[in-house]
Amino acid sequence: MHHFHYRNDSLFCEDIPLEQIAKEQGTPSYIYSHATFTRHFQAVDQAFASVPHIIAFAMKANSNIAILRLMASLGSGADIVSGGELFRALKAGIPPNKIVFAGVGKDHNEIKYAIESGILFFNVESGAELQAINHVAGELGTQARVALRVNPNIDPQTHPYISTGMKKSKFGIGADQVLGEFDQAAALPNIQVVGVHAHIGSQLTKVSPFVDSLTKVLGLIQTLKSKGIPIQYLNIGGGLGITYSDETPPQPQELADAITPILKETECEIVMEPGRVIAGNAGILLTRVIYIKDNGTKKFAIVDAAMNDLIRPSLYQAHHDILPVNQVPNAPEDVFDVVGPICESGDFLAQNRTMPVVKEGDLLAVMSAGAYAFTMASNYNSRPKVPEILVKGGESFVIRRRESYDDLIRGEHIPEFLRT
Ligand SMILES: *Cc1c(COP(=O)(O)O)cnc(C)c1O
Repeated sequence: MHHFHYRNDSLFCEDIPLEQIAKEQGTPSYIYSHATFTRHFQAVDQAFASVPHIIAFAMKANSNIAILRLMASLGSGADIVSGGELFRALKAGIPPNKIVFAGVGKDHNEIKYAIESGILFFNVESGAELQAINHVAGELGTQARVALRVNPNIDPQTHPYISTGMKKSKFGIGADQVLGEFDQAAALPNIQVVGVHAHIGSQLTKVSPFVDSLTKVLGLIQTLKSKGIPIQYLNIGGGLGITYSDETPPQPQELADAITPILKETECEIVMEPGRVIAGNAGILLTRVIYIKDNGTKKFAIVDAAMNDLIRPSLYQAHHDILPVNQVPNAPEDVFDVVGPICESGDFLAQNRTMPVVKEGDLLAVMSAGAYAFTMASNYNSRPKVPEILVKGGESFVIRRRESYDDLIRGEHIPEFLRT
């Protein structure tokens, strides 16, 4: 459920017409709904009320510091994957003891920064990383808390680029090696083993891969206990899917009902890392049609947003619904490619999309653009990044201003020898 809906054929975010935001802030713009973020966080939190848990919002989905501050105010922690994300999380006021750090390539500086910040634990992805963390913790004269990320070799039945828990994946430690790595970890002087982590992929639309994965993880936790390595935290990762078009992913409560018995049996405190399920349908990308082009075979709606603003259609063949901001009852339909101004054939937001006929100047809402959307934006083709706007009831707040042309060259420098 989200708070983007029509009133008298005009698309609103909460109590504000999107047309009004377009007038005030221009297009393209990202628009987020405060009520939707809040509702989604609380749905996850309440679903797991019967087990002790920490929700660590996967901030690679949406890392605007105002959104993170909202998450913090609801009680969220953060799942981070870089030093930059740690910086943002701390700036936003997320408590360090609710921050967990994943990713296969943490470098020395990132490890140091995280230990000094007092994060809850590292999600360790390899033996080499374990050695590096042990080394840095030793230099700092302390112990680092770690969870080992196990790769349970489960096919989550999602897009290959967002599938992370299969044997061929770069993520986690294979089931055949993980016990050995736990032994190694337990023997390292500057490492404190506190957890097991399993995150098998994103946009999962079934409960069964979670159940299969956690069943394996439960067995691992029991084996570790019998070997004298008690596990305090079970980090179940994220991955719950959302409805982009006609998917019917389980609701958080359905997932909780299916896995809570397993979670209870582990006797662990649960950490979870939802990203998409909280942020995905809490945002849209507002764009305007610049031209209509009909080349005889195809019709193109050329809009002012592009793949640099929202790369998911180009990168994952992802579907985003595209709705007219002003709906015309019984409007005729036609088939369009919705494309951006970028000089790449891969620059599209939708292909062969049957939609109400659009014309120059029309406003369109690209739906489900709250997760993996602005965070993946780039300046390709020297396009300034678009603003992010948070709507709360009848008020709107610019939480990131539109970039200027000066922003584009900030940090660039012409060396002396080229100046004459
Ligand atoms: C990306 C990621 C998540 C979040 O996944 P969602 O599908 O957005 O819930 C959680 N944990 C880890 C380790 C990730 O890499």
